[in-house]
Amino acid sequence: MNAIVKLPFRREAMRIAGKLVRTDDMVEVFNPYDNSVVGTVPAARAEHVREAFAKAKAFKPVLTRYERQQILQKTAEMLRDRREEFARIITAESGLCWKDSLYEASRAYDVWSFAAQLTIKDDGEIYSCDISPNGKARKIYTTRLPLLGVISAITPFNHPLNMVSHKLAPAIATNNRLVLKPTELTPLTALALADVLYEAGLPPEMLSVVTGNPSTMGDSMITDPDADLVTFTGSVRVGKHIARTAGYKRIVLELGGNDPLVVMEDADLDRAAELAVAGATKNSGQRCTAVKRILVVDSVAEDFSRLVVEKAKKLRSGDPMDPATDVGTVINERSAILFENRVNEAARLGAEILHGAPRQGALFAPTVVDRVPHDCELVHEETFGPVIPIVRCPNDIAEVIRISNSTAYGLSSGVCTNRLDYVARFVAELEVGTVNVWEVPGYRIEMSPFGGIKDSGLGYKEGVVEAMKSFTNVRTWSMPWG
Ligand code: NAD
Repeated sequence: MNAIVKLPFRREAMRIAGKLVRTDDMVEVFNPYDNSVVGTVPAARAEHVREAFAKAKAFKPVLTRYERQQILQKTAEMLRDRREEFARIITAESGLCWKDSLYEASRAYDVWSFAAQLTIKDDGEIYSCDISPNGKARKIYTTRLPLLGVISAITPFNHPLNMVSHKLAPAIATNNRLVLKPTELTPLTALALADVLYEAGLPPEMLSVVTGNPSTMGDSMITDPDADLVTFTGSVRVGKHIARTAGYKRIVLELGGNDPLVVMEDADLDRAAELAVAGATKNSGQRCTAVKRILVVDSVAEDFSRLVVEKAKKLRSGDPMDPATDVGTVINERSAILFENRVNEAARLGAEILHGAPRQGALFAPTVVDRVPHDCELVHEETFGPVIPIVRCPNDIAEVIRISNSTAYGLSSGVCTNRLDYVARFVAELEVGTVNVWEVPGYRIEMSPFGGIKDSGLGYKEGVVEAMKSFTNVRTWSMPWG
């Protein structure tokens, strides 16, 4: 398939318990590169959300583990076979480059395939009770059951397929019903995924997709009486709004990040620079776990900075549909202008812009900025684009850790050092959910526990294994034994 072929215009409907539902009001979906309208989705009203939850609640899933495994694996295989079809939708509505979109589709395969393999594994535990003077001749068993109500899932734009997969696959693996509200910026991928699931044999009542403007229907997703759990991935601002609004409900929040890549004096600088540039620019720098600050100790900063510029210069930024492009656009021009302003403000405060290119609309080329003050907005806030900011730190691990911990975020981190004493300190003292030694902060497999602390999340993890736990209730039962 030729990546240059344009996506045909998509006039989409919602999927409510599998039924196509349209409204008069529409939300337009834009291609960030050329500002063309790639499709429209219905602007749901509160009553559409209510209908979706009521239909889900009225349905009782009875799929056996074998049936769930078949649906999940079939979905994985269909995504693998239609990888380019999905990449085309992702690139058209998000501006992510073709390479990034293909990679995303292959990650989604892993999510669905891991969920398929995990759903056939019994999750119960057994406790013998005759283990203390207070014991009895009994056994206690646990088994995990689907939620009594419905899961409400709200997803962001930066991984239009993978973030949605991380909500849907564990929900289906645990026999839950789910109502999804994808972001209004990239809803077309989510709707295409729903169709794959129905085709793979999912009872349509187990999944509804509603679309629209969060200002008019967002709160219905949070407060619906049939929603038992809200699982949200997105910004801190909206995450905290959900925490305030949800009331007596379980909430899982996967929020923003400001992840450091730490480079210590013993590091192989070429390898560290490679990680820095890749980590800051893949997916147009729009990963919650992108490298958003490079903390390098003074003694090696000069050499390191030169290597970073060399590597950044090799990246090709441009038309996202061109298979040779390494970095596509960011989500819209408004975001690109914000990043441009933050880079300029850092420069006013003493930073040096070593590499970049003039912004063109939403196209913001990889930009290397050195000597960035650690407390300026560019690196103190989450800058969700392909900026590569180098923060020079004193030659002292305690200072590096203090600077790393000085933002409100606590998602992930990467550290470049071979010293075990440093590694031990980073693992113990960085205020984050993950520490990756000699890897980018975003490194993970789709089933390993993933998630942040502080403003990045409540410590409740995602990843297929943990999500399956959070989407279930533990039933404990016991009986006489012996
Ligand atoms: P966002 O918070 O603007 O939007 C996320 C979702 O929330 C969208 O579906 C949006 O429509 C919805 N929403 C907005 N207002 C709402 C309201 N009042 N009620 C209900 N829903 C509402 O985030 P975004 O800009 O789409 O995504 C980027 C953010 O997501 C970044 O901060 C990034 O770090 C974060 N993110 C975190 C993770 C993680 O796992 N921690 C992963 C990916 C992205």
